[in-house]
Amino acid sequence: MFYDIIVMGSGPSACAAALRCRRIGLSVLIVTERSQKDSEEFYEGLCFRPKESICLDAGGVIAGLEVGPAFEAARSGSYLGVISAGGACVPGFGPKGPQKGFNIDRSLFDCLLLEMCMGKGVDVLFEEKIDAFVEQGRRITGVRTSSGKKIAGRYVIDGTGVGQMGGRRLGLKKLLLSPPFKVWTGIGAMKGNFESGWAYFIPRKTGWTWLAPEADGRCSWTRLSHFSLNSYDPPAQISVHSITHRSVFNRRWRIYRPVCKAGVILCGDAAGVLDPAAGQGVLNALETGHVAGDLAHRIFCKPEREAAYLEEYDKWFFNRYMQKAILLDQLYGINLKQYYE
Ligand SMILES: Cc1cc2nc3c(=O)[nH]c(=O)nc-3n(C[C@H](O)[C@H](O)[C@H](O)COP(=O)(O)OP(=O)(O)OC[C@H]3O[C@@H](n4cnc5c(N)ncnc54)[C@H](O)[C@@H]3O)c2cc1C
Repeated sequence: MFYDIIVMGSGPSACAAALRCRRIGLSVLIVTERSQKDSEEFYEGLCFRPKESICLDAGGVIAGLEVGPAFEAARSGSYLGVISAGGACVPGFGPKGPQKGFNIDRSLFDCLLLEMCMGKGVDVLFEEKIDAFVEQGRRITGVRTSSGKKIAGRYVIDGTGVGQMGGRRLGLKKLLLSPPFKVWTGIGAMKGNFESGWAYFIPRKTGWTWLAPEADGRCSWTRLSHFSLNSYDPPAQISVHSITHRSVFNRRWRIYRPVCKAGVILCGDAAGVLDPAAGQGVLNALETGHVAGDLAHRIFCKPEREAAYLEEYDKWFFNRYMQKAILLDQLYGINLKQYYE
């Protein structure tokens, strides 16, 4: 098997990269650990999955990336603004940032994005986990899957998300920019006087709580803690008996240096992770995936400029990541400077 582009993963960064590359006329293969059967399940049980938030000003970008239909179908509610207890600033959502937004079902969104990719002629290898790169000299020339398939490609784009498979396997340097943060999320019934149509950010001594009530009385919630906790309680504003879903994630801030090398480009969370208070994780994934696809094309057009183009992408990614990290630092007072100067 040979493709111009091999895309690892099928989240927003991976799909944006694949769509961009197909639009330019490149042959593209997505390799994803997801099963094709999952798609049907994504349409079921919609109400019982915690939603993620996307700010309104993302609309232009989403349309620009031509993923509007997936976004429209996956959005389940909107909020007019963020009410922040104690006037705390939420970097991605607070008074200094955009406030109005939408709640979207991520599983459905991802599923629809992947369907769009297939509709545009992207090949998809389901239920395959990439676990190694194929290297020739100092260049990545393909991937190997867990079932032993070897696939060759002119460029590999890593959209494996928070698991950061690419950076780990390439042995890139990882900058850790925060103490360990745990994030957990769920959906339940609201108790208390919280209005739907607004989102709530409640800072706590050990982190924060985000509440996104919906008109039907359900509320998606996300919590973060800076300390190692053994319990992952829902917020007090949620009726415990109504919990229908809960997952826990490691969102320690981390970024690879660099985020690309000859033959491979990292994008989205695969390149750099922040916690959800940074806001717009999905949008960042879409944008960086799109730019990664463009970058591969530019390199194909002018191979003699490859090193310069890779360096430019690395700087661009690092600078926008650090701008967000610096804003977030104001919320937690981590004193980032000790890490990156
Ligand atoms: C609790 C929580 C709440 C959040 N809330 C928000 C929010 O409200 N708004 C927002 O914008 N962002 C939010 N985020 C952040 C957002 O979810 C991420 O930034 C976004 O999903 C990143 O997209 P991605 O494409 O980079 O990676 P992902 O969405 O993680 O996709 C990675 C894909 O790669 C696949 N994969 C992984 N490893 C392999 C492998 N080895 N081989 C093949 N496939 C592989 C996975 O199955 C998956 O399909 C939240 C995150 C968390 C944890």
